Amino acid sequence: MNESCIFCSIAKKEIPSHLIYEDEHALAFLDIHPRAPGHVLVIPKAHAETVMDLSDEAVGMFFSAVKNVDRLLVSKLKPDGVTIGINQGAASGQEVAHVHVHLMPRFKDDGGGSIQSVVNNASQESIEEIKKRIVGS
Ligand code: 5GP
Ligand code: ZN
Repeated sequence: MNESCIFCSIAKKEIPSHLIYEDEHALAFLDIHPRAPGHVLVIPKAHAETVMDLSDEAVGMFFSAVKNVDRLLVSKLKPDGVTIGINQGAASGQEVAHVHVHLMPRFKDDGGGSIQSVVNNASQESIEEIKKRIVGS
């Protein structure tokens, strides 16, 4: 746990949230500034800044919780789709340094876009060059 982390405080129930799901390792609550009806954040109870800071086992349990919350939202709110995403790092929009998955129920003609539309920084390098930089060949 991290003393100065707001999501650790929510996990410890020190500050209130609209909790919609809880299991041994994760919980989910409504985002305080919802971008869609039923905009939910899923967090691991243990503090970690990014998914890379979770053990493989913890990642598995965390994404099981994401799946359970997805199922819950779909069954109760009956959206036409769900946008599921993580902002990792300040450049991508991460404001709270405790890993969280956003689930935003989507409805036909809700005016939103696809997750790819958050950036439009097409590379000057070719796809082959980028691949080489990642895997070396
Ligand atoms: P990020 O930009 O880090 O991916 O998203 C952080 C999210 O957490 C934002 O959508 C913001 O509205 C939400 N948030 C920040 N503080 C609180 C809080 O105290 N309670 C709740 N329920 N949501 C919060
Ligand atoms: Zn934390």
